[in-house]
Amino acid sequence: MSGAGPTEMLRPDGMGLARAAALLRAGRLVAFGTETVYGLGGDATNPEAVAGIYEAKGRPRFNPLISHYPTAEAAFRDVRAGELARKLAEAFWPGPLTLVLRRAAACPVSLLASAGLETLAVRVPSHPVARALLAEAGIAVVAPSANRSGGISPTTAAHVMAELEGRIAAVLDSGRSAVGLESTVLDLSSETPVLLRPGGVALEELERLIGPVGRISAAGIPTGPGQHPGLRSPGLLLSHYAPTLPVRVNVTEVAPNEMLLAFGPPLDGALTVYQLSETGDLRQAAARLFEGLRWLDGVGLRQGARGIAVMTVPAEGLGLAINDRLIRAAAPRGKAE
Ligand code: AMP
Ligand code: MG
Repeated sequence: MSGAGPTEMLRPDGMGLARAAALLRAGRLVAFGTETVYGLGGDATNPEAVAGIYEAKGRPRFNPLISHYPTAEAAFRDVRAGELARKLAEAFWPGPLTLVLRRAAACPVSLLASAGLETLAVRVPSHPVARALLAEAGIAVVAPSANRSGGISPTTAAHVMAELEGRIAAVLDSGRSAVGLESTVLDLSSETPVLLRPGGVALEELERLIGPVGRISAAGIPTGPGQHPGLRSPGLLLSHYAPTLPVRVNVTEVAPNEMLLAFGPPLDGALTVYQLSETGDLRQAAARLFEGLRWLDGVGLRQGARGIAVMTVPAEGLGLAINDRLIRAAAPRGKAE
């Protein structure tokens, strides 16, 4: 795994930044301070690096990650930003505001980073060390909080070491995070802006600039001005990509006319096979999961397939999150999320 071996503690000087940037570009994981909390950074465009983040955190689910950039200009190359997004960026970036927007046609960020969604969450952090690192790395960097799943978000390099030592390549010591609160997440991917998570930028500040913002009710339904009930089903905002074709998991035999998502030596008889990992490597399988589902769905629909059969993926390590995703893809529609 990319984090194997001792974890380097890097100082936020020229040498430390150059080392951290080189590690990120090489697909390794580097924790760094932002104004909110310490993030566990990885190359957003490298699916294996992104899989490594979920692995290091021990996350049981692939929840979508935020992609970080040194400038708004860099961020808006990867998403479709309209006037509202530009206005918000002008006012609040760099800073603790995350914007969820539709992916640009040629968005290089791995599908795993956005958990298969058509949207991508982007942010320009204000912390000087984070900005210097992002500028030097020259790649989009996904960075969820640098703690083990279920743990507390770290605000110092020592906290990160206590949680992740031996699991990641390096920690860039960037001092104590000032805000200690996560970024505000605002969804701009549909007609009305919707607040997905309160955070470092207050809702009132956003509304002063762009007018009414919808909220998510306790039941997960968008509410507020401009929201049409039923237009977006509960949970759809965060619902993950589901193939159009029916999905069967844990198959030991392929039915006639089925596509196959294989893990290890493929079963016989499938119309078309997509291999998650020939050697049974869970990191590789995670990195290829969303691409594989999309590809089989697209090709299968054209070939008139009846569905997608999925071989068993062991429920350990990253296999937990892979199975979580597959089981929801296989759930009866409308109950998947
Ligand atoms: P964290 O990993 O703590 O930085 O949290 C990331 C937050 O951003 C979570 O609340 C995610 O659900 C949210 N998020 C990231 N990407 C998306 C997206 N494409 N659509 C909706 N929410 C997102
Ligand atoms: Mg967290």
